Amino acid sequence: MSKIIVLMGAPGAGKGTQARLLRERLKLPQISTGDMLRALAAEDIHTTQASGMLISDEVVIEMVRARTAKEDCRNGYVLDGFPRTTAQAEMLEELAAQQGKSIEAIFVDVPYDVLEKRLTGRRTCPVCGEIYNIYFKPPRFDNRCDIHPDQVLNYRSDDAPEKIRVRLETYQKQTAPLLDYYQRTGRLHRVDGTRSPEEIYLDIEKLIGVEVAGA
Ligand SMILES: [Zn+2]
Repeated sequence: MSKIIVLMGAPGAGKGTQARLLRERLKLPQISTGDMLRALAAEDIHTTQASGMLISDEVVIEMVRARTAKEDCRNGYVLDGFPRTTAQAEMLEELAAQQGKSIEAIFVDVPYDVLEKRLTGRRTCPVCGEIYNIYFKPPRFDNRCDIHPDQVLNYRSDDAPEKIRVRLETYQKQTAPLLDYYQRTGRLHRVDGTRSPEEIYLDIEKLIGVEVAGA
């Protein structure tokens, strides 16, 4: 049976890398509701977002339904940013049943202090875009790009510690009920996200079974 992978992980957990590997190696397309919402140029959606109102669950599930009805999703797909609530998770159960697919929730688990360092330690070269981390991948010279030593590395204001803390706490608060839900329904798989992307990927591949690549 082909699978719907619900990929979960805090900002900085490396979820994006895993989604890319799943796409490249298992040909599972990544369905990002955030991207889809942003791509909707419709003026009413735009206004709704601008005014800070939430897009209704019905609108989002219909978007997912339409997108995943396409041929490229036949052998399964990876959901990113959806479901966000248990109500959405229940809607997804229905959709999965209709599509004849099973759901596997994968949580890329990384301790809070590691996430904090990954995010607040990030520095980028303004010329080549090379990404450094002052804790995990420091440049050879203090705050200078290895390839462009005349360049001082950039620090994004989004990566300021207080902003990062708010983002991480918001994520944890939002995700806790969803983790409970998938735990209860027996669909939750935790993978240790402190290891290398390759090791994490192999775990995920094992969990979902490689038969998703078939056909
Ligand atoms: Zn550089």
